[in-house]
Amino acid sequence: MSEDEVPAGVRVRADLAALPAYVPGRTVSGAIKLASNEVSAGPLPSVLEAIGSAAAEINRYPDSGATALTERLAARAGVDAERVAIGCGSVTLCQQLVQALCTPVDEVVFAWRSFEMYPIVPQVVGVGQRRVPLTAGHVHDLDAMRAAITPATRLVFVCNPNNPTGTAVRQAELERFLDEVPEHVLVVLDEAYREFVTDEQVPDGLTLAKQRRNVAVLRTFSKAYGLAGLRVGYCIAPAVVTEALRKVFVPFGVNRIAQAAAQASLDAADELLARCGEIAQERERVSGVLNEAGFAVPPSQANFVWLPLGERTTEFSEHCLTNKVIVRAFAGDGCRVTIGSPEENDAFLAAAASWQR
Ligand SMILES: *Cc1c(COP(=O)(O)O)cnc(C)c1O
Repeated sequence: MSEDEVPAGVRVRADLAALPAYVPGRTVSGAIKLASNEVSAGPLPSVLEAIGSAAAEINRYPDSGATALTERLAARAGVDAERVAIGCGSVTLCQQLVQALCTPVDEVVFAWRSFEMYPIVPQVVGVGQRRVPLTAGHVHDLDAMRAAITPATRLVFVCNPNNPTGTAVRQAELERFLDEVPEHVLVVLDEAYREFVTDEQVPDGLTLAKQRRNVAVLRTFSKAYGLAGLRVGYCIAPAVVTEALRKVFVPFGVNRIAQAAAQASLDAADELLARCGEIAQERERVSGVLNEAGFAVPPSQANFVWLPLGERTTEFSEHCLTNKVIVRAFAGDGCRVTIGSPEENDAFLAAAASWQR
């Protein structure tokens, strides 16, 4: 195109046209939403009270470093506060990690299918990516991920348990993988669903992050702690990484109300974590019923289950919607269904039972 053929007006990056948009779970009034891995129970009164007090001060900027929350998280984890970075949900921390570690010639490695943000973030930041297919059992293929690491690799995401399949990698295989990953590559264990894990063979990423110089852990208040609407997550990583995360952090990103609610949620951790235990029990019940019906649900360690429906995925999700249940469809691949209250799960199971397979 010659100079005078260039259209007038503002131009945005051409490569953004190819970017898949993040698709949030649908909300339909009157329907049961099992599409976004939220907990169905509303906030605790103590958390609402803390939110109210914080709201009275919203004319003031928040503490940009979220000092009080950071210190509490550090104490709980048994690490120095400098090794904790707070973000607006762990999604933002995923982006900060890529911004902090990678330049345009570098690459990020992750499993696929996995968390929808992993392919989006490197593209937004402008760095390379390699997707490594899950095994036939819908689990991270750590050997193949190891093989995908090149001199250009700076960061590997391991989503454990994996969103959307719910599958988890275990201690021995993860340790073997970590032993083999070059030390200059940061392995980010995204543990958004850690609190729902019941298999003792699934390692606590925090322990690994404390033992190793190239491991980071992402945790969030959105899932187990029920604060999805407020956007708080955190990363525990080597100090060199958290320091870099703070450099790419947009000041005051984590707001005053979110910081207060996160702290109040830590005060109520026992109560909130007990709810996770109940959700894990429901997960086993729902998985059992679905497997009886022939849905081939892989073992889940999260607060959702995966139905590998392939080409019939969209049809199944439409059928659920007709029955007033919203699930999350990944067209051509499968449906992810969040575990809700027993009544909500029963509604979903009834919908699934009435589907002509
Ligand atoms: C939900 C989720 C997150 C984070 O969510 P935030 O609300 O941004 O904290 C991160 N990773 C995975 C795999 C998730 O499923």
